[in-house]
Amino acid sequence: MKAIRGATTIRQDSPEEIRAAVKELLCALSEKNGLSEQEMICILFSNTADIRSLYPAKAAREAGFTHAALYSSLEPEIEGALPLCIRVLILAETEGPVSHVYLRGAANLRKDLKKFSVALDGPAGSGKSTVAKLLAAAHNILYLDTGAMYRACALKAMKEGLKQFDEKSVRPLMDSLDLRIEYRDGKQHTILDGEDVSEAIRRPEVSMAASDISALRCVREKMVEMQRKIAAEQSCVLDGRDIGSFVLPQAEFKFFITARSDVRARRRYDELKAKGFVVDLANLQKEIEQRDENDSRREFAPLRRAEDAVLVDTSDMTIDEVLSFIEKKIQEKV
Ligand code: C5P
Repeated sequence: MKAIRGATTIRQDSPEEIRAAVKELLCALSEKNGLSEQEMICILFSNTADIRSLYPAKAAREAGFTHAALYSSLEPEIEGALPLCIRVLILAETEGPVSHVYLRGAANLRKDLKKFSVALDGPAGSGKSTVAKLLAAAHNILYLDTGAMYRACALKAMKEGLKQFDEKSVRPLMDSLDLRIEYRDGKQHTILDGEDVSEAIRRPEVSMAASDISALRCVREKMVEMQRKIAAEQSCVLDGRDIGSFVLPQAEFKFFITARSDVRARRRYDELKAKGFVVDLANLQKEIEQRDENDSRREFAPLRRAEDAVLVDTSDMTIDEVLSFIEKKIQEKV
């Protein structure tokens, strides 16, 4: 008889999330251990006290695991413990080596599991930052929005009154740049010259300026160095244009996320409108296409799909569909 361990996390306490997470965990455990349901003698679950809406054992039964004896229990509240976590112990009649499976945020529970990076590249409005945030939250790892860093450089140059961005005028700004990325309550804050510019860099006029300034070698070298340093320290999801192809060519997981330009323009339009900006949809589409062109044609580290990046066209997909697709690809490779 073998004892096999596993754990996973959910994003919020809801029966749907619990069902999906339990099914995903048990299927992964079966697959990795070449285990049929008949060989499982008992499946014991525990969950953290912030999960109340459904017994994981019930979710397992609903998912078709009816042969084994199923049992759920509640864990005590332990300070600093990983929240929204479901743990499982399977006793099974099986031969061969045992593979324990830790998914999503629980992957970080196992210190013996290696640090990893997820590179999400693609054009503006492809949905990559939404997916990146959710993916990082699900795995309980850091999310780095690298676009925010180029936007901060553009804002700096605009504040300095630069009308044209070229190496000669921008290099001195880069030499004295005081840019920090900080995290508060898990949210990225961009600090420029001691000021939190996280909102200011989202202004529509900063977008085009960011695209222009990011083409300069002196800017990219500085930003890429910062990005590599952050990624070297922890597991993280980075989104940008050149993460898989240039910043972290050795990233464990790479995706290139795209969508038709009309769909991307509409998404950006809705996003800006919700923030109170008045923009014209047709102009926005033109600007997005212009940015794509700029970003793809620049000489140094252009927007490009790395050869080993999985292509995801999100034009006709919901965020949940994109997320499940990416999660599946990650699990296949683990
Ligand atoms: O992703 P976001 O729209 O915030 O990026 C703003 C601009 O920054 C992009 O249009 C692109 O020119 C630049 N960028 C880049 N490389 C990255 C991230 C963003 O060149 N890794």
